[in-house]
Amino acid sequence: AKQQHRGSSQYFSPAMGTDARERFKLLKGLRAGFEDNRLFVVYQPQVDMESGRALGAEALLRWRTEEGKFVPPDQFIPLAEQSGLIVSIGEFVLRTACHQLKRLEEQGWTDFRMCVNISLAQFRHAGFIETLNAALRDTEVNPNNLELEITESMAMEDADLVMGLLASIKRTGATVAIDDFGTGFSSLSQLRQLEVDRLKIDRAFVREAQVSSAGSTIAQMVINLGRSLGLRVIAEGIETEEQRQQLLALGCLEGQGYLFARPVPADQLERWLRKEPL
Ligand code: C2E
Ligand code: CA
Ligand code: CA
Ligand code: CA
Repeated sequence: AKQQHRGSSQYFSPAMGTDARERFKLLKGLRAGFEDNRLFVVYQPQVDMESGRALGAEALLRWRTEEGKFVPPDQFIPLAEQSGLIVSIGEFVLRTACHQLKRLEEQGWTDFRMCVNISLAQFRHAGFIETLNAALRDTEVNPNNLELEITESMAMEDADLVMGLLASIKRTGATVAIDDFGTGFSSLSQLRQLEVDRLKIDRAFVREAQVSSAGSTIAQMVINLGRSLGLRVIAEGIETEEQRQQLLALGCLEGQGYLFARPVPADQLERWLRKEPL
């Protein structure tokens, strides 16, 4: 099946990475790609869904192989996590995103929120807070403009460790969002103990909200939970005008998704923000 896919698709086949040899090859390629600067960061705008005004962007990692194929992050991030490579790759993403944030601040975007995904292995790594502090210090960004995204499952993994880390992050001035919210089983009391600033409604519930009442119930629950805890809420994966209207009607004001913009390289993000054609 892989041979068939090679010619016709720019992506690796989804089956790749299932057997150990393929995984090893992919990891070797990833290491080489990282060393040869074939990893880069794209940015997806986040908007006020009522006015369309830009509020920030999420930094997303891309890997373009020597052959020009794009390997989706869902395939290589897990490998990077298992191998520990994510610690240095994650630092690269953090620094790159902070540099870009600094550029935007200098262009007048003084309260633009730059969101960076942090994986569990990175978060757990002893040097994480120092890496964060160094990135903030070296790029001289306003720390309040940096938001770290951790997943709901990570937040619930090891409560004591996570609470300590969240407190340290808070001291740097950066904020924290819980990503893929709604997919885990955190309770109100657990959430209340965590020093987070924002909930991100998982794409699955945005999609479901349109087709089933169960889906819209979950979206509504997350929005109400956020409201009762005084947290901001953003919906990801907004693809249609109907979804935008529906999430707004449920009380969610911030959104991210293909309806507004796809993830784009830095120069295109800047053009998009200036409302110039891409
Ligand atoms: P995520 O953090 O949930 O990121 C959102 C994903 O949804 C992105 O996929 C984005 O391109 C996609 N997306 C945004 N709007 C829409 C939409 O309207 N429709 C659809 N169908 N998809 C949309 P992407 O870039 O492929 O990333 C996948 C996942 O890989 C991310 O999910 C995140 O878990 C991980 N990832 C990406 N970059 C990084 C990184 O720098 N560090 C870490 N640790 N993980 C990353
Ligand atoms: Ca994310
Ligand atoms: Ca997400
Ligand atoms: Ca996700």
